[in-house]
Amino acid sequence: MSDNLKLDPKQLYFIPMGGSEQFGVNFNLYSHQDRWLAIDCGIGFADNRFPGIDILIPDVSFLEERADKLEALIVTHAHEDHVGAVPRVWQRLRCPIYCTEFTAQVLQHKIREFPEARDAKIVIIKPGDRIELGPFTVEFIEVAHSIPDTCSVVVRTKVGNVLHSGDWNLDPNPVLGGKTDEKAFRALGDEKTRLTYIGDSTNANVAGRSGSEAEVEKGLAKVFKEHRGRIGVTIFASNVGRLQSICRAAKACGRRVAFAGRSLHTMVGAAKNCGYLQDIEDFVSEEDIGYLPEDKQVIILTGSQGESRAALARVARGEHKNISFGHKDTVVFSARAIPGNEADINAVINNLVGAGVTVVTPNDTKHTIHVSGHPRRDEVIDMFQWIKPSTVIPVHGERMQLEAHAEIARGCQVEDVIVPSNGSVITLGPGAPAVVDHVETGMEAIESRRVLDSGHRSIVERRKFQYTGALFITLAVSPRGDLLRYPDISAVGLIDYEDEDGQELLLDLRDEIEDIMADMKRDDLYDDHAIHEEVRIGARRLVSMLLGMKPMTYVHVIRV
Ligand SMILES: [Zn+2]
Repeated sequence: MSDNLKLDPKQLYFIPMGGSEQFGVNFNLYSHQDRWLAIDCGIGFADNRFPGIDILIPDVSFLEERADKLEALIVTHAHEDHVGAVPRVWQRLRCPIYCTEFTAQVLQHKIREFPEARDAKIVIIKPGDRIELGPFTVEFIEVAHSIPDTCSVVVRTKVGNVLHSGDWNLDPNPVLGGKTDEKAFRALGDEKTRLTYIGDSTNANVAGRSGSEAEVEKGLAKVFKEHRGRIGVTIFASNVGRLQSICRAAKACGRRVAFAGRSLHTMVGAAKNCGYLQDIEDFVSEEDIGYLPEDKQVIILTGSQGESRAALARVARGEHKNISFGHKDTVVFSARAIPGNEADINAVINNLVGAGVTVVTPNDTKHTIHVSGHPRRDEVIDMFQWIKPSTVIPVHGERMQLEAHAEIARGCQVEDVIVPSNGSVITLGPGAPAVVDHVETGMEAIESRRVLDSGHRSIVERRKFQYTGALFITLAVSPRGDLLRYPDISAVGLIDYEDEDGQELLLDLRDEIEDIMADMKRDDLYDDHAIHEEVRIGARRLVSMLLGMKPMTYVHVIRV
């Protein structure tokens, strides 16, 4: 671990700062000739390891210290895990941002909520553009993905070239935007220069191909025809192609479409501004859709990951102002569960099923109602055959996806394969690629009114509380250490104060504490710290013996 990283200016370096052992929080750095380039800066979902935290963002301190040498931040596409942290960290980096038109629209919309980023200079690029950024020449290649205007990035330097893939798949028939530009990738492979591929591992452990969004339109139409009553469809708000597929499927079944959820408004607005979603029927407002006959309605909802404040979860709890589903109605999940979100999703499904709603997930139907935007194994193999990389570095995934991606590369006889960790400092040339150092990486946790380090004591304590409960013991003692009244005890998350067992535990604890203090040496009773430790250890031991739990235990000694 080095605090003071020394780099050879002649080398080209790659440092993944986030996303290379988890999903989300993608943040990648390149360095050459003492200049820096960043690609993507996204958020991550805060799962049950971060109770009370909304989202996670990368800690950009390392790059902030080098901000004067930072040429640019390139954003490959407008998904939250690639762009979401930009408005929150831009002020610390203050570099120009390069992205496509749709990504710029989404980013500008986000920046409205973060005035500190309003001076950000956003440069709009198009596939095929070539831009000089200090010692880096950067090119953009169009790829198909589950959001419009997604690009892979070619980073060229005098000592070696890199293809930073971003997210992509080989949808043979995308419904919005072009196909992945096979010709451009093949041309890159024909250059005969050493090329490092740094790429999307999300589905590298899944066999076959991701399929086509065009199939989803047909599959949804079939599902819509099989059901009467209202139909709700939940998707990732950013999946603009899916929005279009739903609208066309609905039209084929004589249904009109409304949508609910703030992020859908943002995405539909950005998409229309960029010329997408032009040839679909106008949306009905969520207030008006209820006036149509039930079998003429389709309502698109945010919340496919079970997010408790999103439209679907509110509808499922019966708390939505304009929309309710019941008996005869159907909710279709046209999205995959991101690993870690299953419990939240099931909670929403249970609420819906409890209200008599039929729920259709991709596992419940023979029709295609979702395809992934990320390449499966055969698509990754195609890419390797086109670009013929000499080095492959899998990023964007958990360890198992990164290793599966590495295995594909080895199977394709790629010369060097390096599986990185967040913070790996990797030389890409001249010479053979290697991990040469490690820098500290971290995440910041966004709470409702604060930003905390993800390892902040409060979060660590919260995590412990939820498993162990907590004991708070207050002791009023005389100057010589006699207890002046019964110990005051709160047992949080351990007992029900109303029931007998709970009261009994408190009495047992009280007796134990009195015994402990009666047994203490006279001299020790003058020492607050000694009382504190004896009581803490003893009380915890008793609860552990009675309940099998080792609660966080806090003792307060008050001398009266
Ligand atoms: Zn993406």
